[in-house]
Amino acid sequence: MSENHPIDCEEALKRLFEYIDRELDGHKHEEMDDHLSRCRSCYSRLEFEKKLRQHLKQATDEKAPDALHSKIAKLIHKL
Ligand SMILES: [Zn+2]
Repeated sequence: MSENHPIDCEEALKRLFEYIDRELDGHKHEEMDDHLSRCRSCYSRLEFEKKLRQHLKQATDEKAPDALHSKIAKLIHKL
């Protein structure tokens, strides 16, 4: 069971998020690496998702102080 099977685009897209989060089993991760090195369309999809996540992360980081602020404001209101 150690040999890698070529996966198709449908399978690759199903695994994309787990791949980004590095949650795939070793051989499944390698199958993704293999597919992405050969498939331009899945590779650009990967890049797109990565960038999107980065933006989302930045957006949440920026929002965090505001959320905290309103939480504190509510607490103060209860007193
Ligand atoms: Zn593909």
